[in-house]
Amino acid sequence: MRIAVDLDGVLANSMKAWLKIWYEEKGQLIKFEELDDWFFWKKLNINEEDFARILNKAWKRWIEIPPTEDRIGEKVCRLKTLGEVDILTARPKNTEKYALKWLNYYGVRFNRYVWARNSEAKAKLGYDVYIDDSPYMVEVLKDTGKILLLYSQPWNRSVQENVNVIIVKNLDEAYFHLRRIKNILE
Ligand SMILES: [Mg+2]
Repeated sequence: MRIAVDLDGVLANSMKAWLKIWYEEKGQLIKFEELDDWFFWKKLNINEEDFARILNKAWKRWIEIPPTEDRIGEKVCRLKTLGEVDILTARPKNTEKYALKWLNYYGVRFNRYVWARNSEAKAKLGYDVYIDDSPYMVEVLKDTGKILLLYSQPWNRSVQENVNVIIVKNLDEAYFHLRRIKNILE
């Protein structure tokens, strides 16, 4: 079983660092739970480049980015007992070195670190299972027969489960579903 695990929003809670920088720059305090839309930044009257600039800045300060869960490295190791685990991320390439430092710091072991341009490109790589927080992965994986374990975050709460979309609250739940899926695939 080939498993693709997203980085931002699944392993690394980079939006927490994003909000911290936003506060430093603008003096506006926004709570994490208020990020209830994938395009929340539009409401702040900024464009995608501004959003990306702050995210890049957050990754330069990678040590300040918290993991989404405690013992994140251990939990990814557990997923690895079920198949090949690649980190599949669509982040700006210039932040790759910080991302790798972060993964190493938290003891996250993986088979490969794979970069993709966007959600469509992720889907084309044909993994059996994707663990991702983007609501757009639902569309791009539709009718592909691939499974999406949607990692629950405030910005994807409106997504409904369907035949190939399962919402997971944490990586323990992801492990539980993967174990079941592995039995079906084999
Ligand atoms: Mg993500």
